[in-house]
Amino acid sequence: MSQIAQHLLQVKERIVQAARRVGRGADHIQLLAVSKTKPLEDIQAAYAAGQRRFGESYAQEAALKIDALREQAACQDIEWHFIGPLQSNKSRLVAERFDWVQSVDRDKLIERLNNQRPAGLSPLNVCLQINISGESSKSGTSEQEIFRLAALVAQSERLVLRGLMAIPEHTSDEAVLAVQMRRMQALFTELAQQYPSVDTLSMGMTEDLEAAVAHGSTMVRVGTAIFGARDYS
Ligand SMILES: *Cc1c(COP(=O)(O)O)cnc(C)c1O
Repeated sequence: MSQIAQHLLQVKERIVQAARRVGRGADHIQLLAVSKTKPLEDIQAAYAAGQRRFGESYAQEAALKIDALREQAACQDIEWHFIGPLQSNKSRLVAERFDWVQSVDRDKLIERLNNQRPAGLSPLNVCLQINISGESSKSGTSEQEIFRLAALVAQSERLVLRGLMAIPEHTSDEAVLAVQMRRMQALFTELAQQYPSVDTLSMGMTEDLEAAVAHGSTMVRVGTAIFGARDYS
């Protein structure tokens, strides 16, 4: 078994244990393998181990990797999620290749993705990214803006509103983390009541996936625990 396959098993076991502790079924929590900065071989190893959902953060790097795999006719049924900050001038690269964009946080991006999504592809799945920690280094919109942006996505023909994404503060203070995660869970519940298409709370990474599962996450985004440390962010 490859090391990446072993790591995937370990991460899945962490999800199962975390879900069990709070009485949730682990099959309600999807695993997104975050392959940013990692080579095609790593994606192919995870794919060979059965992984089908992958997340990328850099538009140009991701476009090269996705195109290379498609040219090789390899890993055709991967579901690609864009999870990084997205500059407006890179939105076309993403609209033409990805299945999901989880980092939507402003009007202009909604407009561009909707206009640029090719007619031959199914509508683009969208999560609104919320800056739940309020840190200036983090992208994402404010809580006050969620429902206005959600309405914009919902009325965009080439987009489907799927939910919310957040990167809570990187802290060893479990109480601080819990406050932010609980807030995300409440916002997600409220949004899902308004929009039947909303089914995704994307929250939890290598360091905090257990806490995220305890606070209702339906998708954890894990890089380091699967692929190892990255050379750059
Ligand atoms: C890099 C990244 C991850 C994965 O982080 P790890 O700590 O390596 O698991 C998850 N979400 C986003 C938005 C990221 O940019």
